[in-house]
Amino acid sequence: MSEMIRMAHGGGGTATAELIRRVFRPYFNHPELQKANDAATVNVEGGRIAVTTDGFVVTPWRFPGGDIGKLSICGTVNDLTMMGAEPLALTAGFIIEEGFSINDLAEIAGSMAETAKTAGVSLVAGDTKVVEKGAADGIFITTSGVGVIPPRIFVGGEKAQPGDRIITSGTLGDHGATILMARGELGLSGDLQSDVAPLNNMLQPLIGHCGEGIHVMRDPTRGGLAATLNEIAGQAGVAMRLNQKNIPIRPAVYGLCDLLGLDPLYLANEGKVIIIAKPEVSEDILARLRRHSLGRDAAIIGEVYQGRPGMVSICMEEGGERILPLGSGEQLPRIC
Ligand code: MG
Repeated sequence: MSEMIRMAHGGGGTATAELIRRVFRPYFNHPELQKANDAATVNVEGGRIAVTTDGFVVTPWRFPGGDIGKLSICGTVNDLTMMGAEPLALTAGFIIEEGFSINDLAEIAGSMAETAKTAGVSLVAGDTKVVEKGAADGIFITTSGVGVIPPRIFVGGEKAQPGDRIITSGTLGDHGATILMARGELGLSGDLQSDVAPLNNMLQPLIGHCGEGIHVMRDPTRGGLAATLNEIAGQAGVAMRLNQKNIPIRPAVYGLCDLLGLDPLYLANEGKVIIIAKPEVSEDILARLRRHSLGRDAAIIGEVYQGRPGMVSICMEEGGERILPLGSGEQLPRIC
């Protein structure tokens, strides 16, 4: 029997990586794809641009703190920002299931417009397709974007170096925990909110000030902090060590994870950045992040060192150290 796609293949863990390696890599092997950064960088006359695309299938489509429309704008704005680019223009493709409410679609469009305005970016092209009832689940959105990278800014996962500090712009796991709660299957309620937000307004001034000291920026979305750091450690051929006591996590997120046997470090975030930077600029970055409303809980959570390439570990508060592996991606389907 021929092998079939499983939910884990979309989870952003080892199953996704294996699928890309086996199915896509033999056909698509441009050096920019192999870098596996948040966006590709393309040389144009007079400079460089960043290009990226992302699909959104989150269920439920509306959740505390946002909806699929806001998420689809933030995801692409943030992926451009992670390459140091100033987001310039976005496109959106909608796949809508027959029977979806037109009022709900208008709510999603309004939410996209408001988020784009906040981020200072324009939606310049779009496409709408409708499929028969049952051929999709409500609404799926794909956004693509282009941005301009300022001169002298070169960030990317491959640039992490021993000695670098690892910084988070805030609490981890809020989006993933909120979606789980919003599905209502758990019979739980709480005051959790997704962190979904465009990060360019906070990060662009920071890149202007500390740009050359910043080696990597990445948004820890699907697969959470653990997947993000595993990817970067692999790309750069370095090891990373985190300090559990310095990692900001809301008590409500901890509570939910305890109940469900989940690790908040594997939960998705949609309004956070992980910055890996030279030690001499890390305190300055921290102070600048904390001055912004989206970075109030920023913290230095670990460091890069010369160890087994690709290994990420965490020093536990109660003592001892454990490995933080990539994860298979089975845990949390359709989180973004
Ligand atoms: Mg990303």
